[in-house]
Amino acid sequence: EQTGSDDLLGSLNPGQREAVVTGASHNLVLAGAGTGKTTTIVARIRHLIRQGTAPNRILAITFTRRAAAEIRSRVQTESRAMEGVGAMTFHAWAMREVRANPDVFGYEGWSVLDADDQAQVMRGVLGRGKRVEGLKASQIIDVVSFARNTRVTLADAIRAKFPDQTIDPKAIGAVVRAYEERKKERRYLNYDDLLLIFAARLADPQVAAWVGSHYDEILIDEMQDTNPLQWTIIDPLVPHTRFYCVGDDAQSIYGFRGADFASIHPFSERVPGARVMRLEDNYRSTQEILNLSNWLLSASPLEYGKHLRAVRGSGAKPELHSFETPQDEAGWIAGELRRAHEDGLPWNTHLILVRSNYSGRAIESLLIENDIPYVFFGGTKLLESAHVRDVLSALRVVANPDDEVAWLRLLTLVPRVGDRTAVRAFDALLAAREQGASARDARASALVSMPEWLRAGLDAIEDAANRVDDAVGRAAAMLTPVLATKYRNENWDARQRDLVHVERLAASRRSILEFIEEYLLSPVFTSELTAAPKDDDHVVLSTVHSAKGLEADWAFCAGVSPGAYPSSRALGDADAVEEERRVLYVALTRARDRLCVTRALFHTPVRAWVGGPYAMDVLEDAYFLSTLPEGLVAETVHVPQRAPRPGPPPGLAAPPEIDLGVDLGDLE
Ligand code: ATP
Ligand code: MG
Repeated sequence: EQTGSDDLLGSLNPGQREAVVTGASHNLVLAGAGTGKTTTIVARIRHLIRQGTAPNRILAITFTRRAAAEIRSRVQTESRAMEGVGAMTFHAWAMREVRANPDVFGYEGWSVLDADDQAQVMRGVLGRGKRVEGLKASQIIDVVSFARNTRVTLADAIRAKFPDQTIDPKAIGAVVRAYEERKKERRYLNYDDLLLIFAARLADPQVAAWVGSHYDEILIDEMQDTNPLQWTIIDPLVPHTRFYCVGDDAQSIYGFRGADFASIHPFSERVPGARVMRLEDNYRSTQEILNLSNWLLSASPLEYGKHLRAVRGSGAKPELHSFETPQDEAGWIAGELRRAHEDGLPWNTHLILVRSNYSGRAIESLLIENDIPYVFFGGTKLLESAHVRDVLSALRVVANPDDEVAWLRLLTLVPRVGDRTAVRAFDALLAAREQGASARDARASALVSMPEWLRAGLDAIEDAANRVDDAVGRAAAMLTPVLATKYRNENWDARQRDLVHVERLAASRRSILEFIEEYLLSPVFTSELTAAPKDDDHVVLSTVHSAKGLEADWAFCAGVSPGAYPSSRALGDADAVEEERRVLYVALTRARDRLCVTRALFHTPVRAWVGGPYAMDVLEDAYFLSTLPEGLVAETVHVPQRAPRPGPPPGLAAPPEIDLGVDLGDLE
């Protein structure tokens, strides 16, 4: 046993070892990228279990579902004794607690809505005009969410999000109140509600003591992105369990969700008795890559005080490649990957980082063209694709008969049923429910004018409700004929395969609502499933926001152009510009050996906006790389080769007038 423990700690450096065996009740490891924060969390969990802590008394909170799975698998490599550690996101945790304990939290049989569904409900509230004070449904939803996550009033959130618009907060307030009313009637919750419910009940000291008593230690990775609402979950638990948090203030990139990079600084005041530890040695990258990353932070007016040192020593300089167009840029990246593969490097050596889903599509199409296997993190989410939502709508109406969004989606799948008919059927159903009819009877009376397969299908799903995968299978079977028609020209074969994946995902779930929510809350990406086996060799294409914690031998940071870093949308807002800097910092620090920063200097989408809000020189002045010192990168400018064409021969006579009339010949 003792030797095992030595193995566990043997590979760590003294600072990391100290961080793993710390005896303080609360700990914060505050350290830069690649210094082994996540490694330390994994070692700490294994250490606790070795010391006799039961795995299910340890909870690891991560930012994504993928990171949670990663921690679970790294903890378990050792032995089965390590199984049973809880690893999940904040949302998933709140959802589990709320679902599992209706007596404590008071919510049973409510549906959780994702962003799309919420906008749908909001549009219903907005009515014909679809806007209030110029804001559309999704913008109102966003600002409400921002207010709740940052714990400010709606009025303040509106002023913060739309500083130069004259918006009457009262008008928005009225709409939001009506929307909340509608949610309550239909028994809807959104992600924020789950956190709020959890936090609100934890304010009761008895509940806090009870929840806290389930855990010996709660470990949080990526602590810098914890927002004020999540802090209200942590605060009341501090007296009842230990907290072990790791983070990097310079990697805080979720400000739009309410995270505040500075909130990690007063940690030891907020968590009394906390010990703060720092790690300085970076194990991931070569010194040249870190020099560029260090420079980026040192150019900030904020003092991050980060100076990463490479344990691995010196390597190649980061490369900066400039192209004319994003297509040229994407084409070059694909070419580099192909060449490397021909030289024997596996595809999974590479990570391509993009700013947004949208910019990822351009690269994606070149990967496809070049036959390069890839997965796209941050791409379409499985449960957000239309056909999967269609199938889930059938499950949702069974699980929550008041779910209007799901009913309308389901009913309008029926041939020749339009919005109006669907609303009428739903109203009939509600009326029957109000008179005390059971869900099944209410359905029967509301669906009399609908095809018989629908009522029978829903009854079959209800009968299978405690075998969730079976229920998914029945819903898919019921809807397959209509979906095959609906998606006839849109990849129906691939979509059908997705449905099989959904069925498989549902297999271990206890209830339909739990299943839907768990996957909505920490989305599964289509790519993660369709890419099949985990050890499949492929390139990872990822948005920077989805790349937290990832690393690769080669990293390509694409689209690092003026107007993109910082995004032109951030200009004029110093905090937003700094967040943009941190996004770039996260991107640059993913590379182990080779870092390629690429950019398109002409014809970028940004160029096309110029003449819009900002002139090019403004974007260039703000551009982080415009002050790049000599010598930090190796720069290559890729100018397309064009053979020169001679001009017209000198001394050519002026063009004569050319008669364009038609010679009518005989007709004259
Ligand atoms: P990020 O800030 O990007 O999340 P991190 O601080 O969580 O990074 P890790 O991902 O834990 O860093 O570690 C970065 C890399 O360094 C990993 O490949 C890890 O295996 C390696 N590493 C960490 N500590 C050591 C060590 N003591 N010896 C050798 N390699 C190490
Ligand atoms: Mg990490």
